[in-house]
Amino acid sequence: MDWEVGTVIETSTQTPTARSLTLDVPSWPGNIAGQHIDLRLTAEDGYTAVRSYSLASSGPDSRLELAVDKLPTGEVSPYLVDVALPGDQLELRGPLGGWFVWRPEEPGSVQPVAVQLIAGGSGIVPLMAMIRSHAVSASLAPFRLLYSVRTPDDVFYAEELARLEKESDLLAVTYVYTRRTPPGWPVPAGRITDSALESAAFPATDAPAVFVCGPTGFVENLATRLVALGHDPADVKTERFGGA
Ligand SMILES: Cc1cc2nc3c(=O)[nH]c(=O)nc-3n(C[C@H](O)[C@H](O)[C@H](O)COP(=O)(O)OP(=O)(O)OC[C@H]3O[C@@H](n4cnc5c(N)ncnc54)[C@H](O)[C@@H]3O)c2cc1C
Repeated sequence: MDWEVGTVIETSTQTPTARSLTLDVPSWPGNIAGQHIDLRLTAEDGYTAVRSYSLASSGPDSRLELAVDKLPTGEVSPYLVDVALPGDQLELRGPLGGWFVWRPEEPGSVQPVAVQLIAGGSGIVPLMAMIRSHAVSASLAPFRLLYSVRTPDDVFYAEELARLEKESDLLAVTYVYTRRTPPGWPVPAGRITDSALESAAFPATDAPAVFVCGPTGFVENLATRLVALGHDPADVKTERFGGA
């Protein structure tokens, strides 16, 4: 697949350590919700670094949206979060990945399959593409998002998620705060417990399509527990962003 050039046309702060970037890629063939791109940065001395980034956008539009969390010691993410400006050009190739994707069902097709989304941190990005794709489709699939973040300040797309949840009976969002909760939150900060998983996620008996995305350790932990709760491993799709 050839490298293409995208122009940054807009950036927006998501959290104190993350921002979204909208890129215009005139040659973009379109993408399905859940897919990602490879992005290549080249230094003046010719050194290159390639990293994968999920798309928060989908469909035929030539405008792509990324949302990147900064790893302070990283090579690429600090540039995307702190440095890149509208007008800058970035090399990318894609769309990539045909497994971790959600498509609205055909109109009039069989009963829609419930969709369980589970995100850790920036793992929300491809799931956001699915939520947005669902919101503009005629799909009657019920969606639930279980979203684990460190603190209330670390939620990506907080306002948009609140609005979409309010506008649709088909979307339910549950937050789990691992380090600091909002005031008055009914449970202490901590990782996703079995009881949170059982109360906020579709049960295995509903046979939902499950998408889990986030840091590698988070994804492996959740996928193992979902299978232990009776979910068919074939229904649990995962995307690992790397790290511990
Ligand atoms: C398919 C796919 C999609 C991705 N989509 C996104 C996305 O939408 N948004 C996003 O912010 N990131 C995403 N990532 C992660 C991204 O590709 C980079 O790994 C991340 O931005 C760090 O790159 P870096 O060059 O800044 O850090 P590096 O220089 O690669 O790494 C710096 C240090 O951080 C560790 N590290 C690397 N990645 C992670 C991580 N994810 N969590 C914790 N520690 C890590 C490394 O082991 C190293 O010690 C995705 C990864 C994959 C595989």
